[in-house]
Amino acid sequence: MLNKKTIDDLKNLKDQKVLVRCDFNVPIQNGVIQNYNRIDGALPTIKKLLDQGAKLILCSHLGKPKGEALPELSLAPVAKALSERLGRKVLFVSDPQVTGAETRALAKTLKAGDVLLLENTRYRAEETKYGKDERAEEYAKELASLCDNGIFVDDAFGTAHRAHCSNVGVTKYCRENAVGYLMEKEIRFLGQAVENPVRPFVAILGGAKVSDKLNVISNLLEKVDTLIIGGGMAYTFKKAEGHRIGKSLCEDDKLDYALDMEKKAKERGVKLILPIDNVAAKEFSNDAERRVFEEIPDDWEGMDIGPKSIARFCAALEGARTVVWNGPMGVFEFENFAVGTLEVCKAVAGLKDATTVVGGGDSVSAVKRLGFADQMTHISTGGGASLEFLEGKELPGVAAADDRQ
Ligand code: AMP
Repeated sequence: MLNKKTIDDLKNLKDQKVLVRCDFNVPIQNGVIQNYNRIDGALPTIKKLLDQGAKLILCSHLGKPKGEALPELSLAPVAKALSERLGRKVLFVSDPQVTGAETRALAKTLKAGDVLLLENTRYRAEETKYGKDERAEEYAKELASLCDNGIFVDDAFGTAHRAHCSNVGVTKYCRENAVGYLMEKEIRFLGQAVENPVRPFVAILGGAKVSDKLNVISNLLEKVDTLIIGGGMAYTFKKAEGHRIGKSLCEDDKLDYALDMEKKAKERGVKLILPIDNVAAKEFSNDAERRVFEEIPDDWEGMDIGPKSIARFCAALEGARTVVWNGPMGVFEFENFAVGTLEVCKAVAGLKDATTVVGGGDSVSAVKRLGFADQMTHISTGGGASLEFLEGKELPGVAAADDRQ
């Protein structure tokens, strides 16, 4: 279980400055926020700290400005949204230096209950160069000095797999480093699933590429009872077994790896379940003619799992007590090829007494688009971070927090 200090372990916060790394990396178009999930997800941590009388300094990155103060990647709209949600004015300085003179002066005058949001941390190129550039060390020091080198809380799971100045660098210069509620929740659900699952434990992997998930497959084979592989990545396995896959997605340099994984599954007694039929098309389009094949002819491309595969996958999910799902079963963005993903979604959502965790950007958007988000136990907010977690890697953003005494 989580052995890291959390905000519940922080005491005597009255009048203390707390620097909080949030994940406000939200989609913004023409200054208008398109989705508030991440902002709402940060509120429990912010409110808890405010209730304790802390003075808050919030920071986050937004997009990839690569060291340029691009106005379209300013956090100004987030400050406005936060003000509305918190019912108090969130202070904000349009500061290309992020920690410039005006910001520093404002940080000094904060009173209990005040909230200051810093500008996009990636307006400074050093942000992503921690450990690689001396100037990044300076930037980390500057950020930490805003809270008088006191208390730092990291609540940005989405960047936990990266060691940047604003999540890892600052911890070297702050007295106490804790994780926030959002981060704690992610680690609890993903960690419990992978480290201490109630069995049977079934993992479902899909999406486009085997190579993106090489280490996830290998690590999960050491933990699960059943591994279901669908989506574009299944064709590399099918081809390696000698099946015809037409012009479906395939990574020819991963055929041996696929066979190694099948061998590993057999040796460990893990059921490895692959599609047995496919919905294919001749063109990559929603309106293309659809046909179901077990062996896909040369000029057809597998776009979704077929009806027999759906039945097989759903049967393999029956009775599961822990499910981790990463990656769609087909090209779900096209309605006509979303059936496999939809049926698997229904099967996972309908499980009784199961902990169901969905991680990774595309499976999360699939589950949300298909309307099953509130029927899952946990939807991870971090695509890359949740994948690295499933690979069994230690996330630098989590490792940097203080151990619980
Ligand atoms: P990933 O980022 O690896 O999880 O991949 C997600 C993408 O995989 C989605 O955009 C899907 O459209 C795509 N995908 C899933 N199945 C297939 C398939 N059979 N052929 C092509 N793309 C696919």
